[in-house]
Amino acid sequence: MSAPKVSLGTWPTPLEPAPRLAAALGLGPDDLWLKRDDLGGLGAGGNKIRKLEWTLGAALADGAEAVVTTGAPQSNHARLTAAAAARLGLDAVLVFPGGPGASRSGNLALDGLFGARVVWAGDRDRAEVADEVVAELGKAALIPFGGSSAVGAQGYVESARELVAQLPDFTTAVVALGSGGTMAGLVAELGPDRVLGVDTGALADPLPVVARMAGEVAETTIDADQLRVRREQVGPGYPHFTESSAAALTLVARTEGVILDPIYTGRAMAGLIAAVKDGTLRPGDKTVFIHTGGLPGFFGNADAVAYAESQLTG
Ligand SMILES: *Cc1c(COP(=O)(O)O)cnc(C)c1O
Repeated sequence: MSAPKVSLGTWPTPLEPAPRLAAALGLGPDDLWLKRDDLGGLGAGGNKIRKLEWTLGAALADGAEAVVTTGAPQSNHARLTAAAAARLGLDAVLVFPGGPGASRSGNLALDGLFGARVVWAGDRDRAEVADEVVAELGKAALIPFGGSSAVGAQGYVESARELVAQLPDFTTAVVALGSGGTMAGLVAELGPDRVLGVDTGALADPLPVVARMAGEVAETTIDADQLRVRREQVGPGYPHFTESSAAALTLVARTEGVILDPIYTGRAMAGLIAAVKDGTLRPGDKTVFIHTGGLPGFFGNADAVAYAESQLTG
């Protein structure tokens, strides 16, 4: 696959050892690494930058003057679409479900700062409303939910190549699985055995979605049952701040000074911790945690902020 690409981020992102976190999990000092894709440079960072370099590259090649996308109100993808649109001189329209709620913090506040227009879909299907906005605007490109498509997933082929150059003998990359493009790009480049996805519950049935996108990018057939995905971290569902995510945020903050987000990287780290406990990830292996970002989502999640405040002593 190839397509025009636009430059938005700062690459390569760093790969850092996490020896104090490793020790807390019973691993050796060289056994655990953080691929800092939360430090991508644009708009507070995150994995969506790599996908947007490709999806917006295609949109610009098509002559788009505006971009439209959808997601949850605290969507990191929507925030980075707004940031990228600002950088490129495009208008951005973000279609969210429901109506304006009480809280406009976190990602939503940044959407405003980047000058994006928000359209609330009410009870209607977000995708349908987004199609209408695209039709009204004329020269507008629709960026898929989460930026995930075979085009967007090419950004994670590049992240995988950086990682191989940084740590050729790593064993397993652990990554949050949301709309699927990130895991798909990694699987396309690294093969299904070297990637462990942790489902966040964003999609009802993510495995066929990842398999199809990964196959399209790698120009081969990848079956859903070849993929390694843990699903026990979904808990009561995607928007909830689970106890295991809270425990993961706390541990990583206190051992490495690194912040995870409550929905994606918190669940992914909780899945990594569970995988060490059950022997899926072992001492002597080199495990890489793909830090996909989400810091503004931390401030946009009232439960996560209240939890962090409850940890204050004195
Ligand atoms: C969107 C997102 C993910 C998941 O990536 P997908 O490509 O949608 O599966 C992981 N972490 C963060 C912080 C995200 O915003």
